[in-house]
Amino acid sequence: MSEPIVAASLFRTVMAAAGGRCQCEGECGQAHAKSEGRCPREHDQYASKHSGPVRLMAAAADPLTPDCQAAALSASGLRAWCPQCFTAARRSAQRRSASAPSADQCGLFDL
Ligand SMILES: [Zn+2]
Ligand SMILES: [Zn+2]
Repeated sequence: MSEPIVAASLFRTVMAAAGGRCQCEGECGQAHAKSEGRCPREHDQYASKHSGPVRLMAAAADPLTPDCQAAALSASGLRAWCPQCFTAARRSAQRRSASAPSADQCGLFDL
């Protein structure tokens, strides 16, 4: 199992709380209308025949949190994201806050 950003035990805590399913509820810009408003991707499940298994990540509930700060969060500040939702949610959050002071003091925003 890939365990990006956070420690293995924390990753498992977040995944258990999420039921192993992406917790995006539209932050990525997709309404996920076909799956009760929540992203249907589940960890290690195949999203399609043509791609590998989905690797959810435990990342900050607020996608604007820099990675180096996200690493210090506890389970309550994290949630399960599939990479597609997280990348899209971070991008749209960045757009929304483009006029606000940026939080990229870690310089890790280049995905
Ligand atoms: Zn998702
Ligand atoms: Zn989503």
